[in-house]
Amino acid sequence: MNLKNLARVKDVLPKMQRSGIYEVRCQCGDRYIGQSGRTFQERYAEHRRDYLKLQKFPTSGLPGDATSSIARHCRIEGHSFDSTKIFPLHYCVKGRQMDRLEEYYTIKNFIDCNHSSYKVLNNIDAVFFNNFLRFVLEFDEQAIS
Ligand SMILES: [Zn+2]
Repeated sequence: MNLKNLARVKDVLPKMQRSGIYEVRCQCGDRYIGQSGRTFQERYAEHRRDYLKLQKFPTSGLPGDATSSIARHCRIEGHSFDSTKIFPLHYCVKGRQMDRLEEYYTIKNFIDCNHSSYKVLNNIDAVFFNNFLRFVLEFDEQAIS
């Protein structure tokens, strides 16, 4: 099999069977950017399991931050997880490139949502931002807080 054939095989792989950077969007417009080295399908199912787990707790007593922020958002706001949608943003495999791409899409979404009604649910303090990316995207942390 040569490279050309390989590319063709990759193309026919259903998008949910691939890995990379994704966005999960709630019915209210709020969104979460994440990365997955496994398939998007597996990762999305994991977010859903987190949501179902959180259903067992009162919103005032949710367990710590171990669960996904989109699951927490749906639980706290009473938005059904089943109405969320996942969108693959960029196909890639686990590693440094994936980390950079996750930063890129997270920053980009923070910038894009700055003057809109929806929120990015990622904890910005927990995301490491490469200075070059900040520069390229003209990211001003003060402007979004
Ligand atoms: Zn929502």
